[in-house]
Amino acid sequence: MIKYTLKCNNLHQFESWFRTSDDYEKLNNEKMLSCAICGSKSISKSLMSPSVSSKEKKRTKETLDTVPSKEQKLIKQLKKEVEKNCEYVGDNFEKEARAIHYGDSPERSIYGKTTIKEAKSLYEDGIPVTPLPWVDRKTN
Ligand SMILES: [Zn+2]
Repeated sequence: MIKYTLKCNNLHQFESWFRTSDDYEKLNNEKMLSCAICGSKSISKSLMSPSVSSKEKKRTKETLDTVPSKEQKLIKQLKKEVEKNCEYVGDNFEKEARAIHYGDSPERSIYGKTTIKEAKSLYEDGIPVTPLPWVDRKTN
């Protein structure tokens, strides 16, 4: 797993996990990534990758030709990882994330549903939030 610091076109920064650097490229090309704060899909890596060899450029081209089912498979794998390592808290995500942050709840990794407003409020309180490509957002 690789952790990238990503930023959106509104300059919000957030962190997200990927299995490989190719996974990041694929998900971003498919517009599967969105900003944790404002929901923007114009996402880029905050730090430039150290180097891009001609071999990697060729692979990127091949990536663009792959069928969407491959992305679905990838998301499924990532989902499995998260479900194995994190606790699902459903609609209580904001409350639980805050409780863990302030020590009112045992420290652990959680995932669940949140609105853009709730995610923004967590972010402003310094609580890290990572968007997942498959979890539906709560409706406001
Ligand atoms: Zn944003």
